[in-house]
Amino acid sequence: MTEDAPKKLFIKTYGCQMNVYDSERMAEALGAKGYVTTEVAEEADMVLLNTCHIREKAAEKVYSDLGRLRPLKQAKPDLKIGVAGCVAQAEGEEILRRMPLVDLVVGPQSYHRLPEMVEAKGKVIDTDFPEEDKFDHLPERKALRGPTAFLTVQEGCDKFCAFCVVPYTRGAEVSRPVPRLLAEARDLVSRGVREITLLGQNVNGYHGEGEGGAWGLGRLIREMAGIEGLERLRYTTSHPNDMDDDLIAAHGEVPQLMPYLHLPVQSGSDRILKAMNRKHTAEEYLRLIERIRAARPDILLSSDFIVAFPGETDRDFEDTMDLIREVRFGAAFSFKYSARPGTPAAEKPELPAELADARLHALQALITEQQHAAQKAMVGRQVGVLYEKAGRLPGQMVGKSDHLHAVHVQDPTAKVGELVQVRIVEAGPNSLRGERLQP
Ligand code: SF4
Repeated sequence: MTEDAPKKLFIKTYGCQMNVYDSERMAEALGAKGYVTTEVAEEADMVLLNTCHIREKAAEKVYSDLGRLRPLKQAKPDLKIGVAGCVAQAEGEEILRRMPLVDLVVGPQSYHRLPEMVEAKGKVIDTDFPEEDKFDHLPERKALRGPTAFLTVQEGCDKFCAFCVVPYTRGAEVSRPVPRLLAEARDLVSRGVREITLLGQNVNGYHGEGEGGAWGLGRLIREMAGIEGLERLRYTTSHPNDMDDDLIAAHGEVPQLMPYLHLPVQSGSDRILKAMNRKHTAEEYLRLIERIRAARPDILLSSDFIVAFPGETDRDFEDTMDLIREVRFGAAFSFKYSARPGTPAAEKPELPAELADARLHALQALITEQQHAAQKAMVGRQVGVLYEKAGRLPGQMVGKSDHLHAVHVQDPTAKVGELVQVRIVEAGPNSLRGERLQP
């Protein structure tokens, strides 16, 4: 590599959409130090693992990925290896102790300091929750993934669900101020973005400072919808208790707000919801869904479920299945409970693995049935599709429908970024096929 040649950065992103956003921002921050991203780890001057702590054995997976980088580090001793994200926050010094090949460890709240950290001599670790707002110290947005973009509006969580590490790794809820978000959204749109997904660990708890005081998410969405050229808005992930009247009304009143909502419930049993510290009942969730559907009848709902939470009986599990039957979800993420060290639920005895497997299997079968029914119900309907990329077949485009279904359309003259009207003609197991309506 010559003095002036750009340094190459390989980022592996684990887990959620917030991490995808963070990885883009980290790449931009390191861009200021001459780094350009590469898809090939072997040619990188720096490898950054942007980790997630939500899934089972998350830390162990990161350690084993780090182990696999050993030959690369041996072949290229100048290679910098960094660990970022929630595992970095949770494990801290332990990463440097167990994996001496790691040069830097950076938590989710301090990655704006990466440019200084890569210049530092020796090992560096920064898992602070700094006073300064990292977003004030990050460079302008550059890395765009075509016509869609994520925009983090809120971070952290104050809910302390008994199974979750987020309040410990991401810290307390912090909302970014309205003017900054509007400026970032306008900037994204000026670069060709037509759909923005607002992100937060507890996004509908958003309460950022705007004109006249704190704004809720509904008001932020209404304001953003006024940005010319911004055709679609989505948000994720929400807590049922923060779905306020204004946000629910926005689903019926703001055409740019897409008819898809991910609203985790986790369980349909009040006993388990209480043990999970979710602070709502199954009935309250069902009434909330009624109100959301009254505002936007065609909304497609998705959720998260944890099966075999400590103490879950057959009756509790059946309550969850009943809730699923009543709501009829269009999609869902479901997991067997697995303990996260440091959380209250981790103190409790786990259920037998075979029982957890059987329950997960039954729940996923029901969700799959509902998902397929929701997809089949789209056949014959006219939907908007935003083309995100070319498909595998010649002349084919792939995009997302208003309801977040992947849709394949034969449209040889179309371009990525076009938002077109399509009639759905076929529903496959994982995607839909549509025909473009003229013009
Ligand atoms: S609301 Fe979500 S992020 Fe917050 S503690 Fe519960 S599961 Fe974790």
